[in-house]
Amino acid sequence: MRYSGLRIFVEGLRGNTGWKPVWREPDPRPEYDVVIVGGGGHGLSTAYYLAKNHGITNVAVLEKGYLGGGSVGRNTTIVRANYRLPGNSEFYSHSLKLWESLESELNYNVMHSQRGLINLFHSDGQRDAFVYRGNSMVNRGDDAILLDREGVREQLPYLDFDNIRFPVYGGLYHPRGGTARHDAVAWGYARGADRRGVDLIQNCEVTGFDIEGCRVRGVQTSRGAIRAKKVGIVVAGRSGQVAAMAGLKLPIESHVLQAFVTEGLKPVIHHVVSFGMGHFYISQSDKGGLVFGGDLDFYASYAARGNLPMAEHVMEAAMTLMPVIGQARVLRTWGGIMDMTPDGSPIIDKTPIEGLFIDCGWCYGGFKAVPGSGWCFAHLIATGNPHPVAARYRLDRFLTGRGLMDEEGTGSQHNLH
Ligand SMILES: Cc1cc2nc3c(=O)[nH]c(=O)nc-3n(C[C@H](O)[C@H](O)[C@H](O)COP(=O)(O)OP(=O)(O)OC[C@H]3O[C@@H](n4cnc5c(N)ncnc54)[C@H](O)[C@@H]3O)c2cc1C
Repeated sequence: MRYSGLRIFVEGLRGNTGWKPVWREPDPRPEYDVVIVGGGGHGLSTAYYLAKNHGITNVAVLEKGYLGGGSVGRNTTIVRANYRLPGNSEFYSHSLKLWESLESELNYNVMHSQRGLINLFHSDGQRDAFVYRGNSMVNRGDDAILLDREGVREQLPYLDFDNIRFPVYGGLYHPRGGTARHDAVAWGYARGADRRGVDLIQNCEVTGFDIEGCRVRGVQTSRGAIRAKKVGIVVAGRSGQVAAMAGLKLPIESHVLQAFVTEGLKPVIHHVVSFGMGHFYISQSDKGGLVFGGDLDFYASYAARGNLPMAEHVMEAAMTLMPVIGQARVLRTWGGIMDMTPDGSPIIDKTPIEGLFIDCGWCYGGFKAVPGSGWCFAHLIATGNPHPVAARYRLDRFLTGRGLMDEEGTGSQHNLH
């Protein structure tokens, strides 16, 4: 079924009786060419591009819960390409270009909104760092505009510009940055993969790997054994646990990241605003809620919920930046599990076990990477070679120290810096 404005109109007249399920609910088959473990954004986009770009359709995505129930449906939806270091910058630039045509590609409304992102700075030194970053972005072909204090005031008049500790000096404006509807991205890729013949199998937990010699032969699941020529692990916050089932120890720590949303308000925040010095960022959803978040909770955990000290820290930062927010009431808070690498950059690579591939380490920035990651992981699984824009996301950089890319210089322990 193709979606269109006309279709919605016709269905409205027919009492919405003609809509069909968006994907099938198949039982697992005994064998696949490729098994993808994890039905989050990255797993679903990988399956989609395996089918679309490489013609590999004998594929199953195994998800232990329901599609989109992990971090892909829990994030604060920011999409951007404002990285500076080679290795990251070309990857996120590629991913943003895929976002820009995603809705027509998937025939699905993912509500991608390029409303612009502004990173604030509060000192001369920080301005220099943002000038460097902005120049790198422009040289790569992306967009960045340096705003002085009055330029920021024009766009974000509700900020406290004269806060005694963090007076606003200016901001780096990234007009093509913005937001998207997080779970719609998962559903859109799921629908696209299903239409190309991929089996999406929910409530199917992978509990082990069948490895003979040094080659993967399949997986053990809560719904029985499934043979596979190739297996891709794409389980985000659970990467360490799942890789351990194959005897692999990853350079990953899992941490909780919390998010907050207020009651719906009239439009007030028209951009994504990032207040790095206060570990705080905010945007407004299309329903009107102010969506905001801050730093990781200060301990490693697999619990998808956070604690009050971080909630207090985030509220303090919010009040510091924009005291007007004190009038809004927080409606909901939640947490997700972040797979943090020591250099804050991801891994898309083969493992030492033949036929077993891994895509992980997205830290707190993996939502905007969903299209690019699926594109590059599918390329690696299909061809055996890394895609050029993800060539530096190697596992062995943590062994040799060569090629480490730490955009923030803080690794997984932000609170220690
Ligand atoms: C509060 C919060 C805010 C964030 N904000 C942003 C943001 O603004 N911008 C941004 O770019 N990123 C953001 N992120 C990060 C982003 O959401 C993640 O990096 C990204 O979603 C992770 O990839 P994924 O979608 O594939 O993960 P997930 O959706 O977590 O998918 C992994 C899936 O694997 C499944 N799984 C795990 N173990 C098994 C198993 N044994 N067998 C089968 N399936 C298994 C899980 O159930 C899960 O569905 C944020 C995250 C959080 C929590």
